[in-house]
Amino acid sequence: MIPYATCFNFVIALLPSNMKSIVALSILSLLAIGCATIVDKRGDSDVCKVHNVKMRTVTIPRVLVLGDTFDSNYNNTRETNFPNVYPVAVTVSTHQKETIYVCDECLRQEQLWLDQEHKR
Ligand SMILES: [Zn+2]
Repeated sequence: MIPYATCFNFVIALLPSNMKSIVALSILSLLAIGCATIVDKRGDSDVCKVHNVKMRTVTIPRVLVLGDTFDSNYNNTRETNFPNVYPVAVTVSTHQKETIYVCDECLRQEQLWLDQEHKR
């Protein structure tokens, strides 16, 4: 497969100079659209294993680096009580997105847990 940049330079070299900037802009626009992909990171099942309810699909900025809350109590509780919530992200993509499942009951349980923790 020919890399985009090689293909791009080849096409530009063949054109008359007055058309080069117009074609260059068009190709760059197409490449930008091509980069705006949505990665499907949903699992096999759309049913939350903890709450046995159908989850909904959400589209979020693509998570490039997963974060850590540095709170083992939260991490352990999340794993068992509300696994299908939004990821803790350190770095997200500005132009790529991903779809994930979230469970409304997981979100509710997470919020209740966070509220209780803040009261302590
Ligand atoms: Zn759930």
